Amino acid sequence: MTTTATRIIKFASRPGELIATRDRDLSGRVALISGASHGIGRCVALHLAQHGASVAVNYFNSPDEAETVSEAIRSFGVEVLPVCADIGDQQATTQMANEVIEEFGRVDILINNAGVNHDSYFHQMSHEAWDDVLRINLTGVFNLTRAVINPMRQRGYGRIINITSIVGQTGYAGQTNYAAAKSALFGMTKSLALENADRHITVNAVAPGFIETRMTRTIPDNIREDILSRIPLGRLGRPEEVAQLVGFLAGERAQYITGQIININGGLYM
Ligand code: NAP
Repeated sequence: MTTTATRIIKFASRPGELIATRDRDLSGRVALISGASHGIGRCVALHLAQHGASVAVNYFNSPDEAETVSEAIRSFGVEVLPVCADIGDQQATTQMANEVIEEFGRVDILINNAGVNHDSYFHQMSHEAWDDVLRINLTGVFNLTRAVINPMRQRGYGRIINITSIVGQTGYAGQTNYAAAKSALFGMTKSLALENADRHITVNAVAPGFIETRMTRTIPDNIREDILSRIPLGRLGRPEEVAQLVGFLAGERAQYITGQIININGGLYM
């Protein structure tokens, strides 16, 4: 469904603040975003809401931040539902998805964004660090997608976007657990795309490079300098920039794109 009820023009005040036009092109759509209390997920939630979607804001540890995001979304005049669940917990995740479906009637757009990292060299890595990252970053995507896929199939419409990482493509010393989970999402994305194309459900992955969020804030200065020196565009990405790409994939104009891994990394990996 595409309605262009309102068209707002806003000029960017700094490079990277790319919200140039805002069509209400997602009016009537319902989006569920995992990990929408911070960083990329927060920006995706705001972006989809600005484009008219009703939004379910999933969070786990950050209720205050989730409420702040939800308040901002309400101010755009669209419906919002903050929903708490550890996406690594299948029962809690299914309950959460059911709550969203009960409230909004369906989920049209699923953004599997929530993720964590517990970094250490492999020869020092604990089983807990391995398990936790795989449980949230990979099994969490299973849990949430499994909870919404059948209603999506019945309705014959869906957009699923998995947030993976450049680290799944290049590897990164100290992140074997994170890289394993993120590269697993590539195969999962393509298989899901194949299985669900006949139901008009597209499934794509977005692979960001290094983006300015809480996750990258703790990178030590010397490593940050090294990363920056290798990024052709000379800076880290902004979560708003990732949100723009996710927003495009979530919309009607992306209806012929499925099974793709789309990079947004300043040229760090080509
Ligand atoms: P972030 O700022 O740390 O945000 C992570 C989000 O995930 C938070 O909203 C957090 O919510 C949520 N989350 C964590 N564990 C959860 C759980 N068990 N259940 C539900 N939600 C959970 O990180 P970010 O940089 O925005 O990362 C978002 C995604 O992008 C992740 O998948 C990450 O791997 C990926 N990514 C990031 C970068 C980067 O450079 N930043 C690069 C490539 C890919 P609570 O705080 O409420 O628990």
